[in-house]
Amino acid sequence: MAKQDYYELLGVSRSASTDEIKKAYRKLARKYHPDANPDDPNAEAKFKEISEAYVVLSDPEKRENYDRFGHAGVDGQGFGGFNGFGDFGGLGDIFEMFFGSSGRRRSGPEKGADIRAELELTLNEAAFGLEREIKVARTETCGTCGGSGAAAGSKPATCSACGGTGQVQFAQNTPFGRIVQSHTCDRCRGTGKIIEKPCPTCRGTGQTRRMRSIKVKVPPGVDNGSRLRVAGEGESGTRGGPRGDLYVYIHVKPHKVFKREGDDLICELPISFVQAALGDELEVPTLEGTAKLKVPEGTQSGTIFRMKGKGVPNVSGFGRGDQHVLVKVVTPTKLSEKQKSLLKDFAKMGGEHQNIPQADKSIFEKVKDAFMG
Ligand SMILES: [Zn+2]
Ligand SMILES: [Zn+2]
Repeated sequence: MAKQDYYELLGVSRSASTDEIKKAYRKLARKYHPDANPDDPNAEAKFKEISEAYVVLSDPEKRENYDRFGHAGVDGQGFGGFNGFGDFGGLGDIFEMFFGSSGRRRSGPEKGADIRAELELTLNEAAFGLEREIKVARTETCGTCGGSGAAAGSKPATCSACGGTGQVQFAQNTPFGRIVQSHTCDRCRGTGKIIEKPCPTCRGTGQTRRMRSIKVKVPPGVDNGSRLRVAGEGESGTRGGPRGDLYVYIHVKPHKVFKREGDDLICELPISFVQAALGDELEVPTLEGTAKLKVPEGTQSGTIFRMKGKGVPNVSGFGRGDQHVLVKVVTPTKLSEKQKSLLKDFAKMGGEHQNIPQADKSIFEKVKDAFMG
């Protein structure tokens, strides 16, 4: 297969400056680097091609030969002659950029994973807060071996494959010479230690899975969807790293009487038409029992009364919400003959119209007009 033109490969003009060539190569190298395309075998070939083009075009002498004689001018002297990083010149930093960041894996202490737990509360519990124990399954440092993974009386040995570093150097011959990459050691999985006699409790992992009861302090005012963080109660860390955190998600069960809106509560209160007409002092359910609410005479169905400070405490400590009471006037359905007769008298006295508000009265008039034509 004929070799593609180096300038075309990098997408630069024949008069491109060294800087332009370098820029173009960096962009392409990022795109085609094998580490960035683990599933694409063509990427590696492409990466080698553009790297080869860059090696030639970034070197004034090689570039001149290439310009004069084409591929023939740099083949042969080209890639057979490269030895190690010294020959790369400007390439060194680019390889460092790639292999330095992607080839090496962390082998130091790592924080454990976070755990998610759910907690269902009643409205009252959410409103006033509480302390609750939550059962959580999590990994913990093995108590038998203290996390070493080695059976009693034995010690983990230094891994001979990596000399205890947890990393192995991996040399690869490429068109530009040997490239050395670091990988996590397969033998010890990056721990640097080999356990010859594994601890029977944790089978050498140094960790065990346990059920734990964790005390969670729920502050007053939490709502459906609130998230509480309990620091340091998640999965155990690795290689001496700290524990992850426990996140508790709050679910508040629906309440029979109250609807919650932010820090406010809403409830409906049925009253008789007599109470509505004459006014009354009512007993209203609240989060803490009952409270008195004065309904003035002539109260209409649908009127909302506000009971200040009877709502839910604000979760950030900014006071407390209100309770809104929506009054529903109930029309009596089972009247005695005596009651009916009294109501008929009431109607005759003009009482049936006297409380109809203006808006309703106009509807009444409109209906009458429609019938009268
Ligand atoms: Zn153990
Ligand atoms: Zn090793």
